Amino acid sequence: PLILSGIAHDITPYRLAEAALRESEARLRQINESQKRFVSDAAHELRAPLTAILGNLELMERFPQMPPAEREEALREMRQEARRMHRLVSDLLTLARGDGGVTVRNDPLPLGDVLLTAFEEARHLARGHDLRLGSLAQAQVLGDSDYLKQLALILLDNALKYTPPDGWVELELSVREDKAEFRVRDNGPGIPTADLPRVFERFFRADTSRSHDPGGSGLGLAIAKWIVESHKGSIWLESEPGHGTTPVVQLPLAKVSQASAR
Ligand code: ADP
Repeated sequence: PLILSGIAHDITPYRLAEAALRESEARLRQINESQKRFVSDAAHELRAPLTAILGNLELMERFPQMPPAEREEALREMRQEARRMHRLVSDLLTLARGDGGVTVRNDPLPLGDVLLTAFEEARHLARGHDLRLGSLAQAQVLGDSDYLKQLALILLDNALKYTPPDGWVELELSVREDKAEFRVRDNGPGIPTADLPRVFERFFRADTSRSHDPGGSGLGLAIAKWIVESHKGSIWLESEPGHGTTPVVQLPLAKVSQASAR
């Protein structure tokens, strides 16, 4: 205690309050920094397709008599880049809604049915891949079927995007104690061990993916993580470079029924 004019003052509470204040200031600075980075990353990602569209537009304006084949190619590129921007903006809106604390539905759902719908939709993303449906246990969860389908599609899309067409991708759902667990295995290139801790960061892409660029933006897994967390679940990736990747999702079970294979 500090003795001031004969009165003992315990300054511990002030020290603690000061430390808490410093900590929250540091946290705010961190949030501010990451918001700034997010905005500049988003602007950067949007600029690339816009530049391509503007370049082609100028070309078409300057050469109105462009041969049909070249005109077709310019239009094809503009359409592709506009689609890329559209996807990016939808992803950014989903993340902004998540940041804004949007509440997701909490309906009782048979998770296997939701996964099956995503699996059927993913078929047209396969480019010759062996897309397999493993066993689907009966698992009732509480959640939002649209978001859970989007989650499964993000994982299936990644598996099909990064795995060469002669590879395989498998979806399975099991029940572990009080959790439903689904995995999307692939036998693709895997993720470098050093990159693994960063794959859920917004806009993060492993160098190996950038160099092949199958058209991702680096937001898929950030959205997946938000969906899982808003369902009180957990998600992680298991990956062995050169042998494949397996994202694993665990969600709390609403009701356990007997597991059955389909
Ligand atoms: P992207 O739009 O780039 O696919 P994601 O956030 O979905 O963004 O994934 C982040 C990065 O994680 C990808 O760029 C890729 O490097 C890596 N990744 C994700 N899933 C796989 C997979 N199944 N196989 C290999 N790499 C993957």
